[in-house]
Amino acid sequence: MASDHEGRRYLVTGGASGIGRATALVLAARGARVAVADLDDAGARRTAAELGPDAVAVPLDVARRESWEAASARVEQALGGIDGLVNNAGITRDRTMARMTDAEWQQVIDVHLRGSWLGCQSMGPLLAGSGSGAIVNISSSGRHGSFGQTNYAAAKAGVVGLTKTVALELARSGVRCNAVAPGAVDTPMIQDVPERVRAHWAETITLGRLGRPEEIAEAVAFLLSPAASYITAQIIDVNGGELHL
Ligand code: NAD
Repeated sequence: MASDHEGRRYLVTGGASGIGRATALVLAARGARVAVADLDDAGARRTAAELGPDAVAVPLDVARRESWEAASARVEQALGGIDGLVNNAGITRDRTMARMTDAEWQQVIDVHLRGSWLGCQSMGPLLAGSGSGAIVNISSSGRHGSFGQTNYAAAKAGVVGLTKTVALELARSGVRCNAVAPGAVDTPMIQDVPERVRAHWAETITLGRLGRPEEIAEAVAFLLSPAASYITAQIIDVNGGELHL
């Protein structure tokens, strides 16, 4: 049976590592051509090489408009258009509110919230040309509040409002927009979290363990696919059943 993704073209931000890399791998394995976009140029090229000759690496700083303009031109030239966008790139700059600096606040808002907004805005016209375009933004269970992460929680809650509004504005162009909200996932982003904290997290998760990047990628791939044609403006939690939410 032909895959739902055969011949489709996707751009995944933050594709050099973690959830973005896993998403790029899942999509390419199902026949899609993937643009792997990342600030980490060498990492993006490494992922693209893993995907095979149909993949392209695209240098991108999601927080900069000029960078999105260049990426959009590169994708149009390399893939001839785009059928899906995954706004996944992310950073953390954790500190309690009392001690957080302006720079730590702004960097996290810029990458997650401004970055996702710029992505939707820049790629919207190309996605409209698809006929079955889809955007998946990556929020987080942290959107409900997360100690030491006022910047991150605010950005990820903002991604929810962005997602629902983009869904409204792009519906007439045939473009759907949803978000996936992962719980704790074992990626480089949380590599510095101590073992005892991870063990505590696992106790608060119904399935008793952290998630794997591929488990988030599967939800993203479904929402991008034509099989999800009647799903838009939704936030899908993929968190093993977090008990504290
Ligand atoms: P990761 O650190 O493994 O990967 C993040 C990628 O984003 C890196 O390749 C990095 O180079 C790239 N990136 C950072 N800033 C960028 C920029 N300005 N422009 C382009 N690329 C940039 O992290 P991950 O865990 O795979 O996180 C992916 C997404 O999932 C993030 O949005 C994160 O907030 C979200 N998320 C992660 C978890 C988790 O527990 N790992 C939980 C919930 C949500």
